[in-house]
Amino acid sequence: MGVSLVFKSLLIANRGEIACRVMRTARKLGVRSVAVYSEADAEALHVRQADEAYLLGPAPAGQSYLDLEAVLAAARASGAEAIHPGYGFLSENADFAEACATAGIVFVGPPPAAIRAMGSKSEAKVIMEAAGVPLVPGYHGEGQEPAALAEEAERIGYPVLIKASAGGGGKGMRIVEAAADIEAQLAAAKREAAAAFTDDRVLIEKYLERPRHIEVQVFADQRGQAMHLFERDCSIQRRHQKVIEEAPAPGLSPSQRADMGAVAVSAAKAIGYQGAGTVEFIAEDERFYFMEMNTRLQVEHPVTEMVTGLDLVEWQLRVAAGEPLPKAQEEIVLMGHAFEARLYAEDPERDFLPATGRLSHLSFPDASASLRVDAGVETGDAIGIHYDPMIAKIVVHGRDRATALGRLADALARTEVVGVKTNLALLESIARHPAFAAFEVDTGFIERNRADLFLPMEALSPEELACACLAELLHGRALAEARAAASGDPTSPWNDTSGWRLNAETQRRLVFLEGENRHEAVVHYRTDHFGIETGDRTLRATGRLESGGRLAFDLDGRRGRLTVVWRDRELDLLFPGGVRRLVLFDPLSAAEEAEAGSGSLTAPMPGKIAQVLVSEGVVVERGTPLVVMEAMKMEHTLAAPARGRILALRFAAGDTVEEGTEIVGFEVEEG
Ligand code: ADP
Repeated sequence: MGVSLVFKSLLIANRGEIACRVMRTARKLGVRSVAVYSEADAEALHVRQADEAYLLGPAPAGQSYLDLEAVLAAARASGAEAIHPGYGFLSENADFAEACATAGIVFVGPPPAAIRAMGSKSEAKVIMEAAGVPLVPGYHGEGQEPAALAEEAERIGYPVLIKASAGGGGKGMRIVEAAADIEAQLAAAKREAAAAFTDDRVLIEKYLERPRHIEVQVFADQRGQAMHLFERDCSIQRRHQKVIEEAPAPGLSPSQRADMGAVAVSAAKAIGYQGAGTVEFIAEDERFYFMEMNTRLQVEHPVTEMVTGLDLVEWQLRVAAGEPLPKAQEEIVLMGHAFEARLYAEDPERDFLPATGRLSHLSFPDASASLRVDAGVETGDAIGIHYDPMIAKIVVHGRDRATALGRLADALARTEVVGVKTNLALLESIARHPAFAAFEVDTGFIERNRADLFLPMEALSPEELACACLAELLHGRALAEARAAASGDPTSPWNDTSGWRLNAETQRRLVFLEGENRHEAVVHYRTDHFGIETGDRTLRATGRLESGGRLAFDLDGRRGRLTVVWRDRELDLLFPGGVRRLVLFDPLSAAEEAEAGSGSLTAPMPGKIAQVLVSEGVVVERGTPLVVMEAMKMEHTLAAPARGRILALRFAAGDTVEEGTEIVGFEVEEG
């Protein structure tokens, strides 16, 4: 397939990794890239990589990336012939697709009618049912009377799953185990749906106990041709959202694959689809059912690219430009196996609460034919509160599943992130878990294997502590040397860097804090090494700091290297078992912190109060949900840290809170 100029310039109405990824293909095709950005993204990677960039507005997406007029104005100003919406933001907004057409700009996506048809889960089901596509037993009608819905739930049989018709991102979904709970859960789901999607309609499905999420990548051109590019298994999920995806789906027979592909193609044809789309199925035992269709490029499209050797963004651009599908169904060959792991700034220990912060260090293994990293950030960039907290996608390929899985584990082990909490350790434990290797995969995988996947940090070993000391000593020495050189009097005793002290004191106590733990060592300054005494051992330590924050160490003859990242008194040491954050103990600031201790509940991150669940004066048990906060498009519940009394509620639903603000005044009750 020769490279031809599909468009002269393309505006990418998105940010982060997907904007960078679309630009990569644009560059390959000789298409000029136009980026758009919010004030928060002025220095972002996608802006730096574009040929041209336009400011849309303030940080909140509603005033920037979701502002359809602002995006169109940028397109007009830049003379872009087409707009690629990426995923999220305006990608499934039929009004936007329509406005593009009116403005004479090509929307790289399906026709507005197809977006509308699939925009509501209920309407999508009506269309799919008529096209003969299998559906999960359930109810997706117009009637929304609670009593009638409860009757439908009874007919379907418990447990059932309530979903928001207009839903997405796992929001507004509720599992109901028994008839006694249906009324309350319906009300709650409707409230949630109304708040999130300004549409409180719901549908009910049979809740499958151990399902797999399998989706088919489809493609259709403007000439009525449609085909599929095989399937992806996205069953490894947390909070009903994907974490690791793979292609092909393990254990699917060629005939099942052909069946699913054919059903997906007929679904696409049923709505006059064009471009890239994904038909999502939920599968249990030998059966599969239609769940929904996403009328855009998916986050996980790289696994399909890896096993087919195709560039899906190139296909999107060609089809949008009016070209026929580049290949015929028979020409698409499945080659080997691929995995994608989504690296998120989040805290798996706290129910995957999104995390924010500056990436003081971010490094990935080198890309190759079998390893691809799609990232939208680099060292020094910040993960903020306004957008999705995904840092990168790590994608691997291998001749078979076992080979690919080995590469995934290895790539994750060689990925380094410092500055924000991430799910990296969890991803690596999944990749190394025997049940995952043995295909024992369904959407309950993470919860079921929690005990194996959430491993507590092991105690800091004497060698690790010695490395921390060595890093600190060498770092201190380097700073002192720089200071001495700058002062012009390197021979002054005040600029001596050898560890010589007044009173001939040639040893020093180093104390590091790690969360609740305290690590202590005594360092003896020797002529050509440090003696580092930890517990009952003294290690003979030498080393040097290399470029990129690498520490080369020698401990009693054992040599190695590790990355160390400094931030004031904080050291992040990237050991093979994970990042250890140690803080050099400073008795003065410690005294201040001790004084600030109180029984209050504070916002773990900036956000909005969604719901207040208790009233002032009541006594609650440990773990009782008190306040629901919404931050970074996710809900987070603040729970009572112990049995205690609610002294004060400082905010109401709808209020915005800063990180660290006290939300609930709380008093621990004894006994
Ligand atoms: P959303 O659009 O909010 O992401 P989906 O309908 O795509 O919601 O479902 C998201 C996930 O929820 C699925 O991948 C699956 O894990 C789970 N799920 C959806 N429907 C069912 C069901 N009927 N039974 C069990 N789990 C389900």
